[in-house]
Order: sequence, then C-alpha cells, then structure tokens
Amino acid sequence: MKKTKEKTEKKERGISKYIPAAVMFVIFEAVAVTLWQTLDNLFYLLNFSYIGTCIAIGLALFAGGWKHARRFVQFAVGSYMLVYLGIISNENMQIEGFWYYLFIGVFEAATIHYAVAKIFGPLIFGRGWCGYACWTAMILDLLPYKQPQKPRKKGLGVIRYIMFALSFGLVAALFLYHVGNLERIMFWLFLGGNALYYLIGIILAFAFKDNRAFCKYICPITVFLKPMSYFSLFRIHCDESKCVGCGKCLKVCPMNVECNKESRKRANATECILCFECKKACPVKALK
Ligand code: SF4
Ligand code: SF4
Ligand code: SF4
Repeated sequence: MKKTKEKTEKKERGISKYIPAAVMFVIFEAVAVTLWQTLDNLFYLLNFSYIGTCIAIGLALFAGGWKHARRFVQFAVGSYMLVYLGIISNENMQIEGFWYYLFIGVFEAATIHYAVAKIFGPLIFGRGWCGYACWTAMILDLLPYKQPQKPRKKGLGVIRYIMFALSFGLVAALFLYHVGNLERIMFWLFLGGNALYYLIGIILAFAFKDNRAFCKYICPITVFLKPMSYFSLFRIHCDESKCVGCGKCLKVCPMNVECNKESRKRANATECILCFECKKACPVKALK
C-alpha cells in the first residue's frame, strides 16, 4: 500500500515538472489566437505558435534533464527571427524597427514583437527572451567565457541608455528629414546593426572575459527589459534557510545575479535570464 502511494506521488512529481512548459505553450497560443483573430492575419497564429511550441519543447526537455535544452530553443527561435523574419521577410526586428513602426503608427511585426517579448511579456517571464530567444546572445553564448571571469565593470551600464537614445534619434531623424525609401533603409539598418552588434559583442566578450558583456553594458533593449522584469511572475527563488553559503550559484551565473538571496532587490536582479545554471549548481537545492 505504502509502495503504491510512493509510486503515485513520484509519478505526480514527474508530471508536475512539465507544468511550466504547458503554461508557456498555453500563453503563446492565447497570444497567437488573439492576434490572428484581432488583426485577421494568419501569420500571427503561425508565428507565435511556432515560437511557443519551441519554447514549450525546450522547457520540457530541460525538465527532462537534457543539458542542451536552452541552446535548442535559442537556435530554433533566434535563427527563425534573424533569418526568416529579418533577412527573408525584410522585417526589422531590432529596436530601430520598433521605433519605425511606432512612428508610422502600425501595430505589427516589430511593435508586436516588442510588446510581447520585451515590454509586457517580461511581467510574466522576466528576461526569458534573453535566455531563450535572442539571436545576438545565440552566438555570444557559444564563446568561451560562459561564466564571467571578472567582476562587473561599474558605470559601463550607462552605455545602454546612450544606445537607446541614439537608436531613437536615428529613426526620428530619418522621418524629420523626410528621407525616402525608408523600408529599404530599415532593412539595411537591420543587417548593418546586427553585424555591428555581433562584432562589438565578440570583442567585448574576449576583452572582459565574459560572453554576456554586451548584454550587461551595451544592449539598448535592456532599457525596456530591466524595469519590467523586476516584477516578473517567474523568477529564481532562494530558500535562504537551506543555503549553506557555498557560493557555487554566484560563480556559475552568467549575469552576476545575487541568486543566493530571495529579495527582488538582490544585486542585478533584473539581469536574470532564467538560464537555471544556479539551480543546477546548488548542492542543497535551495534554489527553485
Ligand atoms: S540583453 Fe540584449 S543582446 Fe543580450 S540577450 Fe537580451 S536582448 Fe539579446
Ligand atoms: S544563473 Fe540563475 S540567477 Fe543567474 S541568470 Fe541564470 S537563472 Fe538567473
Ligand atoms: S549554491 Fe545554493 S547553497 Fe550555495 S550559495 Fe547558492 S543558494 Fe546557497
């Protein structure tokens, strides 16, 4: 009798670890169907269903213990957005594309992408975008410095605000000076901007011995991501009463988050990309 009860409990625990994958799938399907019906465009159903399915599969694989699960999602979603949406379909999904569509008053492509992944979505899944979908980080994460070898550079984070203002100023100037053929310009800006991001990202990764240096100091998108992810529903929790202070989580965290604290105000709290490396490293299962 006791054995049967234990078996049932084990089975329930086994199933419950797949709940986040199911929840994420349902959230993305809800967005897909809502946008499809509201904007009467089948593309949104296919686009968000594809992304949601990749994320759900990745989360399920992660729950099942496959160590490359996050990498799988990064490539499945990141390369789809970069190659199919950006290069083949000519949609500028970078921040300049967001400003562009905002200026012409169109709620599609980049504006929807930003609303879902980078402005309102982070209230639910924090900076999941940065951990699982960003095509810039998809390449940077392949570099040798997965764990930062040096402490953060104080004060450099201000560059992200300068980049944010520059991107806005650039697109505003194109409109103010009535520059023609804007769609084509936005396409070339997408290609040039991405090439520049990769170049700067790779140089910084080697200079600072930190794959995610670009994310920490330069990326203008974090101006949206950081404040919203502060309130994120999903986040790493620490049971401080279990913590033995070994510091293993701090060592493996690519974003220097003070993950051995529970408070939302812990150092670099809004930098967490939900990669779960800290959870994997904790010897006493204080992180969840
Ligand atoms: S911080 Fe920017 S470059 Fe880094 S993963 Fe997030 S969106 Fe991508
Ligand atoms: S190691 Fe933990 S705290 Fe650091 S980014 Fe990954 S999930 Fe967040
Ligand atoms: S790895 Fe676990 S026990 Fe060690 S400091 Fe982090 S939370 Fe505490």
